[in-house]
Amino acid sequence: MSVSKGYKYMGKRILELGGNTFQYFSRNPRGGSVKDIDKNDAQALRELMEENHFAPILTHAPYTLNMAAAKDDTYDFAKRVFREDLERLEELPSNLYNFHPGSHTGMGVDWGLERIIKGLNEVVFKESTSTILFEVMAGKGSEIGSNFEEIKILLDSVNYREKFGVCLDTCHLYEGGYDLVNDLEGVLDQIENSFGLAKVKAIHLNDSKNPLGARKDRHEKIGEGSLGLGTILNIVSNPRLKDIPFLLETPNEEEGYGREISLIKEMLENESY
Ligand code: FE
Ligand code: FE
Ligand code: ZN
Repeated sequence: MSVSKGYKYMGKRILELGGNTFQYFSRNPRGGSVKDIDKNDAQALRELMEENHFAPILTHAPYTLNMAAAKDDTYDFAKRVFREDLERLEELPSNLYNFHPGSHTGMGVDWGLERIIKGLNEVVFKESTSTILFEVMAGKGSEIGSNFEEIKILLDSVNYREKFGVCLDTCHLYEGGYDLVNDLEGVLDQIENSFGLAKVKAIHLNDSKNPLGARKDRHEKIGEGSLGLGTILNIVSNPRLKDIPFLLETPNEEEGYGREISLIKEMLENESY
């Protein structure tokens, strides 16, 4: 969803499309500046969410936010945007804020992990009611957080640990080498034995253009990629994932998301998979 038409608009639109949660970018995904939140509009969305029993919604940080950046100006930008977003989100309290942990650009994973933890400890504040999610990444370039070990280190090391959780992304997991097609239960076991499934607060539901372990991060439409419809349905119907909101990030316009939501709902209702 795009916030350009306002907060309440996004809520109404996702209801029309058959969903009960949505994701939007806190600002232009590749840019930085942002206009002030219209408090009445945010309030209207809160009411709409309450009336329609929404799951928590997810605000995605811009892609340009790199909390592991070596260059100080990039790092300072990341911290400033992160702090501002968390402050603004108090207009939509107790929802989810998701970000890509960061890329160390050659400085090394351990260095990057420390850089991220230090940055977060500077910007996350006690009064924030948002749940902050580390997104599990595909492992493109020098991305941090493409395996459960790194995510666990982040979760264990930040201040205010109770404010943090994890966003899985089915495309990223598969491209990061976790075989959701042949061993979904095994991957869920690995999560349980690492940071724990209880920390998973959102799932990006995407098919993948690439094979297992490709580490390229190319999303595909539901049922048209290397995961396939069967695996997608196994994931959304898995009892171990039943209370977690699913968010589509497939290459689609809004109508396309509506079709994917209908397809998944129909298949689940008919158990025709
Ligand atoms: Fe993302
Ligand atoms: Fe994602
Ligand atoms: Zn992705």
